[in-house]
Amino acid sequence: MNSAAASLSRRPCVAVRVGTVTVGGNAPIVVQSMTNTDTADPVATASQVAELARAGSELVRITVNTEEAAAAVPRIREMLEAQGVQVPLIGDFHFNGHRLLSKYPACAELLDKYRINPGNVGRGRKKDEQFATIVEMACRYAKPVRIGVNWGSLDQELAVRLMDENARLAAPRPAVEVMYEAMIVSALESAQRAEEIGLGHDRIILSVKMSGVQDLIAVYRKLAARCDYPLHLGLTEAGMGSKGIVASTAALAVLLQEGIGDTIRISLTPEPGGSRSQEVQVAQEILQSMGLRAFTPAVVACPGCGRTSSDYFQHLAQDIQAYLREQMPVWRSRYPGVEALKVAVMGCVVNGPGESKQANIGISLPGTGEIPVAPVYVDGEKTVTLKGDTIAADFQRIVDEYVVRRYGTAG
Ligand code: SF4
Repeated sequence: MNSAAASLSRRPCVAVRVGTVTVGGNAPIVVQSMTNTDTADPVATASQVAELARAGSELVRITVNTEEAAAAVPRIREMLEAQGVQVPLIGDFHFNGHRLLSKYPACAELLDKYRINPGNVGRGRKKDEQFATIVEMACRYAKPVRIGVNWGSLDQELAVRLMDENARLAAPRPAVEVMYEAMIVSALESAQRAEEIGLGHDRIILSVKMSGVQDLIAVYRKLAARCDYPLHLGLTEAGMGSKGIVASTAALAVLLQEGIGDTIRISLTPEPGGSRSQEVQVAQEILQSMGLRAFTPAVVACPGCGRTSSDYFQHLAQDIQAYLREQMPVWRSRYPGVEALKVAVMGCVVNGPGESKQANIGISLPGTGEIPVAPVYVDGEKTVTLKGDTIAADFQRIVDEYVVRRYGTAG
């Protein structure tokens, strides 16, 4: 965490244990993700959970929507254990969670958290009974629960009730305000009901996801002020590619900056054939770029301009970034603290030496009309000038040597 980020104060909240991971309290903000495989297919699901966990997801949610999916959970856990993947698994339940958790005790036992959407638990009297059954299962198996309200599936009976109450006021509030209130009341009343049934205050996480950036910020600010449960943040249905990344970042950055949010998930629609783990990378990059956590050494690169002599420096920046990310599964345990490493790759002497001196290691490539040499700075000092066809390989070797020297356990 950088010094400016260290001065940010997180909203105080209780700590909730989810398997081996703590959410809330003083714990770091947790990155989570969700699979998009058919959970009834244990091979595909275990494989994607493992991919997400290896990418850095600290919690992984799987949908548990059918009997076959519930029956597959023990096999998924077994397959993950065979691969040495210990990541806590969260079951996402809608409509039939009460039945599945009751009928498949191994599923109830092996999941580390249950997600309940109060808008999708049932209707009328059945809603209360079915909600109570899920909470009783959580109590029996000592599991935490996320009460996850979603704009797209808001409890309609509650929304209508609040709208009616609002209409009777002398000065009715705008409809959008009433909808925010309905999201919050749905979460808080459900949490209160869960506690009345017997679930511990420290076993509840809340979320109130919306798909509009300003809506999400507004509703979480209000919710954060009204409870001390840990909050799961995410812009629901964020979308695909840069749209989804930018919208999620815009919304979450504002809230995180205000100390709101204890675990985050980026709901990106993957590009066809794209990797599901992109959502994990984006979540990590949001937290790292805000200085809230460090996951992977950062590469600072200039955008390039008319002074850039070729795309060589773009390739070098891309290659070194990919190289650092690839090394992390091994480096993380072998070189503690390496995730805070900063490498600069710059296109010319205008900002190159200055930015290089601010990084742990920096290289400034020759711009148009400059002598074809690349000075390298290590901890602010110019140590060597690279030239010729081996600049990329030489620079990677310098990075490797620095990592061993600076972060090696003997160092
Ligand atoms: S460092 Fe040089 S190449 Fe890079 S953007 Fe600045 S002036 Fe252009």
